[in-house]
Amino acid sequence: MKALTILGATGTIGANTLDVVTRNQGRFRVFALTANSNDARLAEQCARYSPRFAVMAQTIAAERLAKRLKQAGGDTTEVLSGREGLEAVAAHPQVDYVMAGIVGAAGLLPTLAAARAGKRVLLANKEALVMSGDLFMQAVRDHGAELLPIDSEHNAVFQCMPGGYRDGLEGAGVSRILLTGSGGPFRTTPVSALDAVTPDQACAHPNWVMGRKISVDSATMMNKGLEVIEACWLFSTDADRVEVVIHPQSIIHSMVEYADGSVIAQLGNPDMRTPIAHALCWPQRMGSGVERLDLTRLGRLDFEPVDFHRFPCLRLGYEAARAGGGASTVLNAANEVAVEAFLTERIRFTDIPGIIEHTLERLIYQAPATVEAVLALDAAARTAAADRASR
Ligand code: NAD
Ligand code: MG
Repeated sequence: MKALTILGATGTIGANTLDVVTRNQGRFRVFALTANSNDARLAEQCARYSPRFAVMAQTIAAERLAKRLKQAGGDTTEVLSGREGLEAVAAHPQVDYVMAGIVGAAGLLPTLAAARAGKRVLLANKEALVMSGDLFMQAVRDHGAELLPIDSEHNAVFQCMPGGYRDGLEGAGVSRILLTGSGGPFRTTPVSALDAVTPDQACAHPNWVMGRKISVDSATMMNKGLEVIEACWLFSTDADRVEVVIHPQSIIHSMVEYADGSVIAQLGNPDMRTPIAHALCWPQRMGSGVERLDLTRLGRLDFEPVDFHRFPCLRLGYEAARAGGGASTVLNAANEVAVEAFLTERIRFTDIPGIIEHTLERLIYQAPATVEAVLALDAAARTAAADRASR
């Protein structure tokens, strides 16, 4: 039995992980569950999975959770809170696997703590790699952690990679990584109509059910920009070897192109339980509950080139990947601020790229050499972006 901590248990990734765990009785023991503020949901999950620890990022929510668990008569679960609590359950000596399913920069420290403790890290929280890729990958190497991608594209690429790719893609015969992207809900909306779209329209993804932040990122295609950067770190390559292809059906999750012209793709229904089950069980396989892919019912798979005019955020993602240093830290922070401003209806959808570009131009960034420097750059970028967003 592998002991599992789920960071972000109340989110979409967290719920899918618990579903896969439930379908595979006897393989995993839920050691800890964490959430930000939703103590009601976490209390339900505690009742069902009896974890050793439950952590609420917010202290007041932790107090509420402790009361709920006490009322329910459970005494198996200890409640912790805050940054220390999150890091403690990520790095606990009794933990084998950590699902990094917190959204945004808030996931960095606990995910890093898991890497530093040498865990198998199941990485959904792409923002941690985008803001701090160099330090994160260094921690994985230094502490013998096992990093397995949950993001469906990167999980697909991982499945299509040859043995020995870690010693360099070229030597392993890989010429390119092809990331697919659906193009989101606004792939065919007239560009002139984009300034009037609402948060709910932006969150209505045609193929995937996801949290609101990543849903907006998918609508702007900043998600694909973050994924280009994520791919560069995970597979030790540069942005010139990572190409994005629009594939509206989200059946091919990504591809690897080889020197001899072969292209290997991973296919499946768009359901995060496939990459989650893959990474939980790797290098073996197990059931995930995902519906079988019926190609004849599907009939066709379509592909289109990326329209950078429609999706300026993807261009910004590529530019930050090429600029290196702290550019992607700034990109990520400014994007989080802009997306939150859009979701709370303080700015328009089409204001998002301008705020990010302005922040990237305004800050002078060197490569942050420590986590403290990453956090300081993140904070400075948030201030600059918030200032711009409020004008
Ligand atoms: P979500 O909004 O559904 O859930 C987010 C989780 O993070 C919740 O459990 C919440 O309590 C927790 N959280 C939020 N803010 C926090 C904070 N400040 N401190 C501690 N915990 C906090 O998001 P999601 O869709 O599950 O996405 C989670 C991560 O996985 C994101 O990084 C996203 O990019 C990535 N991802 C998601 C999908 C998907 O299909 N949902 C696919 C690929 C990658
Ligand atoms: Mg993805």
